[in-house]
Parts: sequence; C-alpha cells; structure tokens
Amino acid sequence: MESYDVVVVGVGSMGGATCRTLAGRGMRVLGLETFTPGHDQGSAHGGTRIIRQSYFEDPAYVPLLRRAYAGFRELEEESGRSLVRTCGGIYIGDPSSPTFAGSRAAAVEHGLAHEVLTAVEVRERFPTMDPADDAMAVYEAEAGYVRPEETVVAQAEVAARSGADLRFGERVRSWSVTPGGGVEVVTDQGRYGADRLVVTPGAWAPQLLGSLRLPLRVERMVFHWFTPDTGAVPLVAWDQDRHPVYVEQTHGNEQIYGFPMTDGPSGGFKLGFFRVGTPTDPDAVDRVVREEENDAVLARARQLSPHLGRPVVQAKTCLYTITPDEHFVVGRHPEHEQVSIGCGFSGHGFKFVPVMGEILADLAQHGTTPHPIGLFDPTRAALRPAPG
Ligand SMILES: Cc1cc2nc3c(=O)[nH]c(=O)nc-3n(C[C@H](O)[C@H](O)[C@H](O)COP(=O)(O)OP(=O)(O)OC[C@H]3O[C@@H](n4cnc5c(N)ncnc54)[C@H](O)[C@@H]3O)c2cc1C
Repeated sequence: MESYDVVVVGVGSMGGATCRTLAGRGMRVLGLETFTPGHDQGSAHGGTRIIRQSYFEDPAYVPLLRRAYAGFRELEEESGRSLVRTCGGIYIGDPSSPTFAGSRAAAVEHGLAHEVLTAVEVRERFPTMDPADDAMAVYEAEAGYVRPEETVVAQAEVAARSGADLRFGERVRSWSVTPGGGVEVVTDQGRYGADRLVVTPGAWAPQLLGSLRLPLRVERMVFHWFTPDTGAVPLVAWDQDRHPVYVEQTHGNEQIYGFPMTDGPSGGFKLGFFRVGTPTDPDAVDRVVREEENDAVLARARQLSPHLGRPVVQAKTCLYTITPDEHFVVGRHPEHEQVSIGCGFSGHGFKFVPVMGEILADLAQHGTTPHPIGLFDPTRAALRPAPG
C-alpha cells in the first residue's frame, strides 16, 4: 500500500489549495478527486466569484481576506495565469441592513478604504443602477472577482510541479484511522495510507463526514447570464472597466449579487439570488434551469438594474453547502486528531481559497494555525444537533 505524509480528499477549491501549500512545504501529498480539474459538478465553476473585504458577514473575516488577496497574487505569479480582476464592488441596502451597515462596520473596524454613497450618487456614478431612493451604498475599489476554474487548475498545476501526487477520476469511498495512529483511505481504485488526512469534499461533506452529524444543507443554486438593453444605457456602462460587482438587498426583497460584463457583449451579465436555493443530493442534481427560474431572478434584478433583459445567454446550477450560522467549518476533526476538515463554506468561500489552503496545511502539519479560525470551530454550539 502506498503511503504519504498527507492525503487530501477532494481537490476542488479548498483541497486543491491545501495540496499546493503542503507540497510547497515539501510534504509528500496525495490528492484524490472524483472529477477533473476545474469541473462543473461541485461549487467552483461559472466563470467568476466575487472577492471583497468589507465583509458584512462578520468583520472577523477581514484579516483572512487580506491574506487571501495576497495569496491569489502569489498564485498568479507561481502559475503564470491571470486570476483576479479588481473592478470595484458596491453593497447596496437599507441604511440599517447587513448589506450596507454590516459592510460599512467591517470597513471602519479594519480601516479599509471605502466610500459611502446615497442612491442619487449611485445613479450618477453607475448609470445601469437605479436603487431605491432611501437606499445607501458602500463602494469598495479593491473588490472585484476571481476566476474559479482557472484558480482550481492553477493550484493543481503548482501543487503537481511541487511534487504532489494528484489523482483525478478517483472517488474516495471511505476513510478510517488506523491502530498505529495514521489513516487509511479506500477509493474506487485502491487503498492508501498516510500520517494525516484532510477532508475537503464540498457538497459531499455529509457523505464523508457522516459520523460528525454536522447540520449541513446542500442546496442547488442557479446563476443566470442576461443581456443588457444597450438602447437605454450604452454598452460601455456595463463593462468591467466601469461597472462594479454588487450585492443588493432593499425593502425586504431577496438579496442578489451580480457582476459587470466580464467576457465581452456575447458573454452576458451574470447574477443570481444569494440565498434562494433548493435542497439537493450532490449525486442527483437537477441541472436543468427552468424559464420560471430565469423570470424570477430577472424580475428581482430589474428592481436594481431596470435595463437588464433577455435573451438569457446561459444559466447554470452550482452547489452550496450551508451551515445554520453560515460560517465555515474548519478545524481538527473533533474525534480524530490526525484528521482536519474544511467544509460548509455556505456560498461565500471562494474568496478565501489561498488562506484556507494555508490553514488546512497548518492543521495537518502542526495541529494548529496562527490564522484566526475561532468562528469556524467544528464543535461550536450552532453546529450541534438540536436536542431531540
Ligand atoms: C452559485 C454560486 C455562487 C457563488 N459565489 C461566490 C462568490 O461570489 N464569492 C465567493 O467567495 N464564493 C462564492 N461561492 C462559494 C464558493 O464557490 C464555495 O464556497 C467554494 O467553492 C467551496 O469550496 P469546496 O472546496 O468546499 O468545494 P468544491 O470546490 O466543490 O470542492 C470539493 C471537491 O471535492 C470533490 N469530492 C467530493 N467527494 C469526493 C470523494 N468522495 N472523492 C474524491 N473527491 C471528492 C468534489 O468533486 C469537488 O471537486 C459561490 C458558490 C456557488 C455555487
């Protein structure tokens, strides 16, 4: 049986980052992945992911985001690929909403450069947008987007170059700890041993971490690419040189997020509901997007961007793995010290990919990390099953 320092289960966003970091530190790493690098069956596809630092989810994420930004730049240099684009980001909401007030609080607490704009100022600056009259916005010039498929491919390339053994098209069936204190992993093609295990299976976490009974919800989400009406607002106003990424929620409607035109006029304008999904089994996802789904998100998106329209350029499904408090699950496995876990990224994990790779590598090597990960404790109260 082949033996390694560390086996990583799932070479997607977080697992690929972990393989890259561990291999770069000279560890003997095996990464096992069901699909191919940059595949579209999990959570890391669809061309773009928002990156931002004025983090309304909790200011405690900001130090990690700073490190992640630096990590993306390092990955660009190591891989020779262009991954990140800073086009600015705007977070629009009611004055007391998390989207606006939470973003501003995080920016103020951490001294992040930002501007506060009224609805009138938003309309003047970004002519595609028509927020509610009483809405307020935080504009952050350092926000933008990252390319998920290219990132996953880049980190796999860099990991392999540093000596990681990455096996694609090989699915892990089970893992166990051995009496000697190591781990054993069984796949559909073989059996491997290692001193340490990192489990980063995205939407398959309930299957591979079943004994923990984590209250994870796997949901089918959709992103849609629409066409702007260039008769009303010139095409240049939708372009990434002029148009920011955005998150908006006003007057109790559903929170939406969106991007500028990132791939030319034929590529469309991508957006989606941030938090409206349907429970699914990752092995049996309904990948067909219905016209009613396009209609619902377009009607909502037009409340902010009235000149968005049809045709729908494309629409794709993607998976969220959601915890009850929407914070991640990252730490040592509560029952096995030789196992670390990273899952439950709750639809907002991609912007953390490089720093999560460092954290999970630290945990595998040393059992601890200098990064602040208290919010993600696998044993926190929010993750305990409700008393039955
Ligand atoms: C619609 C949508 C929009 C999003 N927008 C944003 C955004 O704008 N900004 C942001 O920061 N985040 C965003 N996210 C969230 C972000 O993409 C995810 O949080 C992140 O990709 C999760 O990474 P992961 O490594 O947990 O999962 P994945 O990247 O899916 O990786 C898990 C990998 O494990 C593999 N695997 C699973 N089981 C096994 C097994 N048994 N054997 C071998 N391999 C296995 C899978 O095939 C997969 O490749 C979005 C997600 C979606 C779906």
